[in-house]
Amino acid sequence: MDSRLEAIRDTVLARNPGEAEFHQAVVEVFESLGPVHDRHPEFLEAAILERLCEPERQIIFRVPWTDDTGRVQINRGFRVEFNSALGPYKGGLRFHPSVYLGIVKFLGFEQIFKNALTGMPIGGGKGGSDFDPRGRSDAEVMRFCQSFMTELYRHIGEYTDVPAGDIGVGGREIGYLFGQYKRITNRYESGVLTGKGISWGGSLVRPEATGFGTVIFTQEMLKTRGTSFDGKRVVVSGSGNVAINAIAKAQALGATVVACSDSSGYIVDEAGIDVGLLRQVKEVERARLKEYAARRAGVSYVEGGSVWDVDASVALPCATQNELDGGAAARLVRGGLLAVGEGANMPSTRDAVAVFQEAGVLFGPGKAANAGGVATSALEMQQNASRDSWSFEHTEERLTEIMVGIHHRCASTADEYGDPGNYVLGANIGGFVKVADAMLAQGLI
Ligand code: GLU
Repeated sequence: MDSRLEAIRDTVLARNPGEAEFHQAVVEVFESLGPVHDRHPEFLEAAILERLCEPERQIIFRVPWTDDTGRVQINRGFRVEFNSALGPYKGGLRFHPSVYLGIVKFLGFEQIFKNALTGMPIGGGKGGSDFDPRGRSDAEVMRFCQSFMTELYRHIGEYTDVPAGDIGVGGREIGYLFGQYKRITNRYESGVLTGKGISWGGSLVRPEATGFGTVIFTQEMLKTRGTSFDGKRVVVSGSGNVAINAIAKAQALGATVVACSDSSGYIVDEAGIDVGLLRQVKEVERARLKEYAARRAGVSYVEGGSVWDVDASVALPCATQNELDGGAAARLVRGGLLAVGEGANMPSTRDAVAVFQEAGVLFGPGKAANAGGVATSALEMQQNASRDSWSFEHTEERLTEIMVGIHHRCASTADEYGDPGNYVLGANIGGFVKVADAMLAQGLI
């Protein structure tokens, strides 16, 4: 790493002890930024990096609620408003027992660059709670969401901060959150949250957008090697919203997706995953993947194993951070891997990324490859602002344009900085320069 950046990095790490995921996200970005600072000494003079690593505002709050047995439960709520140089803070809420400040900050930090790459006017933020929705009734989830919003509402707004979903937060949760916001504020402020239902201000394509966008980005990478998804064998991790829609899109482009996973194990379906059955099991019944294997002939279920043991030409990690390590990466490379598109945020460890890059595998980092979700959230904000609602075709066309644009920006930035095909470098520099220019223009704030 560049020695000027090393000193800044060390200060950032020391100021934020015990936040391993935030450290990982910061170090990865810093490793790309040496050449930018050679060309732009003004960024160093204005302490852009030091400011970028310090969130503009961090909110941590108590979320009390009552479970179905009448017992009081206490969770912790977070919203980190990281950077507003390009627009209102924008990013999802994650409800998962692993959530703590370090996770929210890594996600918020990545979101700054991701949102900049989309070309839309959105800043970066993230939030969530250590609440575990698994096994909770609808009524419990509603009471939790209402309590969460009873504090959050004072910090958000269509021109201030616009949350959406992430792991554990989908259409149901956004509905309860929006209802409570509307009740407290007495405002039908559609643009305060995205990922809303289609009849009350949501956008078509938003549910599909992250998974679709990941596949569109990966298809653009494959094109640079004169190939495509057609006829490819694909492995996807996860089986939530991002994974399901990535599977659907990859198969629509002619691929066969042979495996996907949940936190208990993975399935192998050599005939290609039946997306209708997968949706029924995961989205309608909210059941485990094991159930899919029980209902379809010729499917094997591997309890507790790693989905990365399955060979494929394309891997789409769509589960969660650090789910794919150096060992798994080396195994995939030995199995003939051609490309990786990250549908999740930071699913590959730093070792895994190094293995992919050394082997010449096309590697699309999450902040570029999974930006379709937040980009379509920005399209939802546009529709809300103009009190309009667009057709599926038009919205999907806009998403495709945006993803092709992000690929182009990453690829041309990597070329410009002398490392063609390095999408990590392209995404980090492409996102950073845009934010840094805006911060410089807006003065020392
Ligand atoms: N949570 C998603 C992400 O990681 C989407 C955020 C949004 O739509 O605001 O980008």
